[in-house]
Order: sequence, then structure tokens, then C-alpha cells
Amino acid sequence: MAMTEAAILGAAEKAARLDVEFAGMDTPELMRAVIADLFPGRIALVSSFGADSAVLLHMAALIDKATPVLFIDTQLLFKETLAYRDTLVAHLGLTNVIALTPKPQRLAAEDPENFLWASDPDRCCEIRKVIPMAEALEGYDAWITGRKRFQGRTRAALALIEAEAGRIKVNPLAHWPADKITGYLDAFALPRHPLVAKGYLSIGCIPCTSPVKPGEDPRAGRWRERAKVECGLHTLPLYAGADI
Ligand code: SF4
Repeated sequence: MAMTEAAILGAAEKAARLDVEFAGMDTPELMRAVIADLFPGRIALVSSFGADSAVLLHMAALIDKATPVLFIDTQLLFKETLAYRDTLVAHLGLTNVIALTPKPQRLAAEDPENFLWASDPDRCCEIRKVIPMAEALEGYDAWITGRKRFQGRTRAALALIEAEAGRIKVNPLAHWPADKITGYLDAFALPRHPLVAKGYLSIGCIPCTSPVKPGEDPRAGRWRERAKVECGLHTLPLYAGADI
């Protein structure tokens, strides 16, 4: 359903206000504010179960183990990611992890050989990630992402709170540096994604992910040698039925 102009403007005003109110707030406190106080039952944490995902999943589990966690299974993920998801879910006691998958009919029509990533990676991301997420978000007023400013130039000016397509989008780790992420994982002895030790600092689908070399941005291994730097989840309007 397309958002009305009033809803879009309302979300934008609310995001701008919350961005000021929440600036300087401790991240676990911010997570509690949005999950338990502001959007109870109406906010989802989006997680790739990637290199840094355990931080926000841990904070959410401490607040409410039934927090909805949306996990996009593109059907082209590393087996290590699926195993890591299972490990973290058991470790944290999460009870509401929702796997989003592309529609089989759409894959059969547009990507029957699983090679669309090579010829048209933007469309591949749309049918495997963006459209399933847009449809899933219909049930929520707000969502939480794990993006950080240090990850690369497209995220350097990331706000703490944004509005998009009439929804509030919360980026609690926007201002966290890499060493704070590592420090948190160590402090709580959280399990690490097994591919991190092999140089994968940002982990997506198998065909579009490679290890990162010393000195590169953490996301340099995504769509390497291509102009593409984002999958579209954070650059396209996410509402079901959008022309994507
Ligand atoms: S990251 Fe690559 S394989 Fe995964 S959905 Fe996007 S283009 Fe397709």
C-alpha cells in the first residue's frame, strides 16, 4: 500500500524530533526506548546475521526475546551464515526470527538459473531482498538497522533516526566505531560469524561477497569490481507494491 503524503510528512517530522531527542543517549537505552516504549509490537529489527549483527540482537534480546527479527534469506547465502543464525538464536534465546525469502514464482520467471546477479545485480537484489522486505515491513511502523557510518562513503552521513516511506528507521550503531563493536562482542562473549576470521568484514550473498584487504572499507568486499555499493534496502522506497 502506498503511503499517503501526510503519513510520509508525519514520519519525517517525528524522525527529525527523535534524532535530536536521542542524540547522546546510550545505545542500549535507545534500543529500549524504541522497542518497549515508543513502538511496542510495531517495530522490527532487521538483521543479516552478519559480522556485527550480534550487538543489536543481544541488546534486543535483553529487552524482549520476542522482538521481531527480520532475516532475508536470499537463497544465495553462505552456509556459515545460516549456521551462525542458528547459533545466535539459541545463544540469545530469540523467539521471533522471521525468515523472508523471494517468491518461488518470481525466481522461476526472472532468475531460473540463479545467475541474475551476474547480468543484472540491481534486479537480483530487488527480487531477493528489497521486495520481500518491503512486503514484510507492511506490518510495522518502525524498523531498526545495523548500519554504521564507518562502513563506507555511502553511509558516512548516516543519521541516528530517519524516516522512509512513512516509517521510522532507527540506526542505533550509526556513530559506533569498529573497535566499539569488537569491544561489545568481546565484553559479552558473543559468538562471532565464522567468516570474519577469514577476512569477510561485511557478509552478504556468496556471489557478491569477498574478503576485505587491509586498509579497505569494511564493505569493499561487496560487489567487488562493480559500481554497485548498496543492495537497495536503504536506497529504494520500501512499501509493498512499489514499482521496484
Ligand atoms: S547480493 Fe548479489 S546474489 Fe545477493 S541478491 Fe544482491 S545481486 Fe543477488
